[in-house]
Amino acid sequence: MCGIVGYVGPRNTQDVLLDGLRRLEYRGYDSAGIAVISNGGIQVRRKKGKLTELTELLANEKLGSHIGIGHTRWATHGPPSDENAHPHQAGGVALVHNGIVENYRALKEELVREGREFKSATDTEIIAHLIDRERAKGKKLPEAVRDAIAQVEGTYSLAVIAKDDPTEFVAARCGS
Ligand code: GLU
Repeated sequence: MCGIVGYVGPRNTQDVLLDGLRRLEYRGYDSAGIAVISNGGIQVRRKKGKLTELTELLANEKLGSHIGIGHTRWATHGPPSDENAHPHQAGGVALVHNGIVENYRALKEELVREGREFKSATDTEIIAHLIDRERAKGKKLPEAVRDAIAQVEGTYSLAVIAKDDPTEFVAARCGS
């Protein structure tokens, strides 16, 4: 069972996310990561292993930000590794995801045919590309997430941020 946390507000986002992930540790996980919007870009830090690996990676960093998402992963598609750890990105979108995309093979084939490149072995990265594809049609993040997940079969929950909208994150769930 993985865990998801998201934050928007005046506090130090990095600290809030790491604290949230610490509280979710009891659920079990094999890797952890966070993504924040900082200086107009998305910064992702993720590590296989215990949360202490991630906190050590971030020990000498202060990612100034007021919005971000975090994740503890329990691998279902792709082995535990830094590359497969969440958050995953496509275009200016980053997301964390709990659950399984049942129709990921068909969706991945379709996205690869369109020329999209994948950096992980996860089913999750497919959702990032689906959202990016909807945003490329000019949709705002909530509409893009809604129309992307309409194409996904399975039970899941997710949280998404977009680099050009540093004021909100979108969360969605289906049977999870
Ligand atoms: N299916 C996703 C993966 O393997 C999410 C797993 C989870 O729920 O942590 O990365």
